[in-house]
Amino acid sequence: MPEKLTLIEKYREHLPVTDKTPIVSLGEGGTPLVPAEHLPALLGVPKMRLFFKLEGLNPTGSFKDRGMTLAISKATEAGSRAVICASTGNTSASAAAFAGKAGLKCYVILPAGKVALGKVAQAILYGAKIVQVNGNFDQALQLVREVAEEYAITIVNSINPYRLEGQKTAAIEIVEKLGRAPDFVFIPVGNAGNISAYWRGFKLCQDSGMCQHRPRMFGFEAEGAAAIVKGAPISNPETIATAIRIGNPASWQEAVKAAHESNGQIDSVSDKEILYAYQLVAHQEGIFCEPSSAAAIAGLIKKVKAGLIPEQAFVTCVLTGNGLKDPDTAIKVGEKEIATIEPTLTKLKEAIEL
Ligand SMILES: *Cc1c(COP(=O)(O)O)cnc(C)c1O
Repeated sequence: MPEKLTLIEKYREHLPVTDKTPIVSLGEGGTPLVPAEHLPALLGVPKMRLFFKLEGLNPTGSFKDRGMTLAISKATEAGSRAVICASTGNTSASAAAFAGKAGLKCYVILPAGKVALGKVAQAILYGAKIVQVNGNFDQALQLVREVAEEYAITIVNSINPYRLEGQKTAAIEIVEKLGRAPDFVFIPVGNAGNISAYWRGFKLCQDSGMCQHRPRMFGFEAEGAAAIVKGAPISNPETIATAIRIGNPASWQEAVKAAHESNGQIDSVSDKEILYAYQLVAHQEGIFCEPSSAAAIAGLIKKVKAGLIPEQAFVTCVLTGNGLKDPDTAIKVGEKEIATIEPTLTKLKEAIEL
């Protein structure tokens, strides 16, 4: 059986690598594009062709692995001995895993108390040196920039140019799977790197003749962290969707350009809308994504309600991270409904209302 190619090998011609680049891989990419069965009818657009790109099935459970395989491979090629990132959680999990595999030291700086449980667990077990700051992500990233100016440590946040180059491969995969580009892409926006990366990927597909048209890009910030929508940085961003709890997005300009060039939009959704979409996609489609990922679905619901989605449109929602990373939020929304009973048949029948 032929060995499965790594992401870098598969898309080598589109990536800044040479034959000498050592490839650090954990089997990232090639994630499923799953059609929705029930949501289109439920939302009142039964003929919409809706697909979920399940990025939570990457090796560390988020799309960050696509960029990290390239960032860590290039850091290794350049002779770097250590990497550092500020993180709302998933970047730290991914950086720690790939750095560990490459034998690099990894420092992760987290906003204290604002990182989902599973992500901290990952960073610990993959062996990163973890520091929490009493501040938000934006302050953590500023510190990381300052440290990296003084010491020979490679930053692996999405300001590292290789991150977005790796992440653009997800757009290519979507075009390969559909045999065309979607008409609309819905995607959460935090630091705004991923929407920028997808746009690069779709432009590349069109330029290389893989598809005839490009999708309209619709990105969604959380209402309490909607700097781009409001047009100014937010000093105290707040949202239940911790992966997009960012008040001053690093890829602000490129994301605005992606929305503009594609005739799309950067908009926001409330925590209430996010939690509704989070539960809906789990109940109806069997998909457990992170609250941040559900912002993409909340955004789709918002635009369907606004009458923006034509009947037979091809739509892709990018579900950026795995729901298992944030068990606290899942339990909080459903805990009340769990009955605890004495171990008798009568009690069980009562409890399940038979
Ligand atoms: C990082 C992340 C985002 C936000 O992506 P940006 O590139 O920062 O906009 C969204 N969802 C999840 C699960 C993430 O890990």
